[in-house]
Amino acid sequence: MTKTIFITGGSRGIGEALVRAAAGKYNVAFTYCHNEMRAKEIESELDGKYGGILAIKCDVSSPSDVHTAVEAAKKRFKRVDILINNAGVSASGLLVDMTPEEWRSLMAVNLDGAFFAAREVLPDMLSRGGGAIVNVSSVWGVRGGACEVAYSASKAALIGMTKALAKEVAPMGVTVNAVAPGAIDTDMMKRYSPEEISALTDEHIPLGRLGKPSEVAEAILFLVEQPYVTGQILGVDGGMC
Ligand code: NAP
Repeated sequence: MTKTIFITGGSRGIGEALVRAAAGKYNVAFTYCHNEMRAKEIESELDGKYGGILAIKCDVSSPSDVHTAVEAAKKRFKRVDILINNAGVSASGLLVDMTPEEWRSLMAVNLDGAFFAAREVLPDMLSRGGGAIVNVSSVWGVRGGACEVAYSASKAALIGMTKALAKEVAPMGVTVNAVAPGAIDTDMMKRYSPEEISALTDEHIPLGRLGKPSEVAEAILFLVEQPYVTGQILGVDGGMC
């Protein structure tokens, strides 16, 4: 039976690359938040080519949205075998300039969203005795980044969640891992000027270039497919860490 992968934030960037890479192997349910047109384009482009594909509107910071989205995936594909918590937002600036509302809203997407989605899919995985979850953390969650304190904290929390949940659900055959991408060429990097990108690649990335979204997607699928790997944080960062 074809397995089903549920990917949050599949309308752009790393999530879109993952939807495309996964579409040849799994039924794919993916969520979008603001970019409905793009999500529907991806859905119609891939529909019928491989297994099933379903785009679902979902703000991951809303537990009821996440519940409805997972139910929609289960209605279409019967079950969810794999969860990728990819949806994320970034924010830069000094911590002292950040408002409590800005802090909470970033945490709500990057951290709470992963909790809501894991909570929705895990009961079935545990009762079936198998499943895989991959969280998309960041190099900044490992190293910490100045002017990205909230983002770094949210991504470090995902690493803690990955390690703890991996131990909790391993006895029931479910794996939980994370990737920690470095600087990947997506919309998220657009807030940096070409000069800042050059400085970053020249001085901080040993492989000397930004990563491609498809390279992160392949690393995620690698983790999904390893039955004896759990609780691991895989850097996909050109040697940054
Ligand atoms: P991106 O191009 O900005 O795409 C972000 C994705 O998240 C979009 O699909 C977006 O959906 C979705 N999203 C945003 N807010 C959401 C919400 N409230 N609910 C549901 N979905 C939401 O980002 P990316 O670079 O591909 O990043 C993907 C993940 O990798 C993120 O977790 C990010 O933190 C992480 N990461 C990225 C980099 C990098 O250098 N790019 C490095 C390390 C880690 P809509 O477009 O439909 O709103």
